[in-house]
Amino acid sequence: MDAKLFDSSHNIRSSVLSGISVSLSVISVFLAVFCIFYVHAYLMASLEIIFSLYAFYIHHRAKKRHYTEMDVHCFTYLLLLLFIVSNLFLPPENHGFMWTLVCPLLMYSLVGLKRGFISSLILFITQTSIVYYRTVDLAAFNTTNLMVNLASSYLVIWLISHTYEFHRHEVESTLSNLASRDALTSAHNRLALTTAFEYFQTHRDKEELSFLIVDIDFFKAVNDQYGHDIGDKVLIETSQLMMQIVGDDNLYRIGGEEFCITLFNRSLDEAHLIGERIRKLIAANPFIYDDHHIHLTLSVGICEYKEGNRIEDLLRMADHELYRAKKSGRNQVRLCPTAEQSVDDNEQKVPVTATSHL
Ligand code: GH3
Ligand code: MG
Ligand code: MG
Repeated sequence: MDAKLFDSSHNIRSSVLSGISVSLSVISVFLAVFCIFYVHAYLMASLEIIFSLYAFYIHHRAKKRHYTEMDVHCFTYLLLLLFIVSNLFLPPENHGFMWTLVCPLLMYSLVGLKRGFISSLILFITQTSIVYYRTVDLAAFNTTNLMVNLASSYLVIWLISHTYEFHRHEVESTLSNLASRDALTSAHNRLALTTAFEYFQTHRDKEELSFLIVDIDFFKAVNDQYGHDIGDKVLIETSQLMMQIVGDDNLYRIGGEEFCITLFNRSLDEAHLIGERIRKLIAANPFIYDDHHIHLTLSVGICEYKEGNRIEDLLRMADHELYRAKKSGRNQVRLCPTAEQSVDDNEQKVPVTATSHL
């Protein structure tokens, strides 16, 4: 489960990019006309026209959601460069440097917290230095007053932009966790599994997918013997142990004591080895709570993704292998020979274990 899959920043940034690029495209045309007829700065006017066309192109891509990270970065840093160039070459009497004040807001909205901070810092240093050196000898400006007002208003807008983006990011992470994770074990949930699988199927940037279902053996007895609270602790510890092997991204809790593991770019044989490592780790782990020493085992069913499989197919095939593992005495790993074979088996109405749902 890629953390980005539940990241709403992408949608926000699409809207921001689309809105900002179309606004700047129009504004740049007005500024180009202003440069030609009022300031007679023809080079600057040409740059404004080129930027306007580029901004319109970016708007078109953002609206269709066809843009890449590269587009966002090129657009943002070109904008940053345009602000610096215009400050360098336009006469300060035109007060073009006032545009510097909108920079932190634009940068944080477009490239997020870290890059927004760095861009704002670069702009603060370059723009205030340029304004200072270009106005210090001009009688029309009281440079001290100008610098104090420009720098302080920039810092206020920078601080607000930073605080806003920081809290937006925090809230987004919290909501993303609530939507995609199981509250007890912090493993991902079934919704996250479906989302990750859909992403895998539409993007196909990973070749293979091996799919494991893990079920704790005789877990009901743990609850009955030691109580529900201890049962909960066992579930948490089991998740943590499995995460040590497969990583946080690949573990999903899909039922009470049932977990699913996705192994991208891993063959069935590699998945078998990983399944065995998990089984041995749990069997050897002492689950100790208060004075209770609990010995646990688990059973694992594994299958492999074949073109056209749905998530339901993978769950059914892996569950079928899990059933065989349970039936053969538990504490073992069973492999689906091939996906097709397993589907055939299912068609012969071999009973499968019920997969409980959260
Ligand atoms: P098997 O080896 O066949 O898998 O036997 P089992 O006892 O593990 O399986 P069964 O499905 O009979 O029992 C699962 C138990 O898991 C029943 C339920 O009380 C318990 N359970 C489900 N969700 C939770 C939970 O969130 N916390 C705790 N403590 N127990 C849970
Ligand atoms: Mg069980
Ligand atoms: Mg079960």
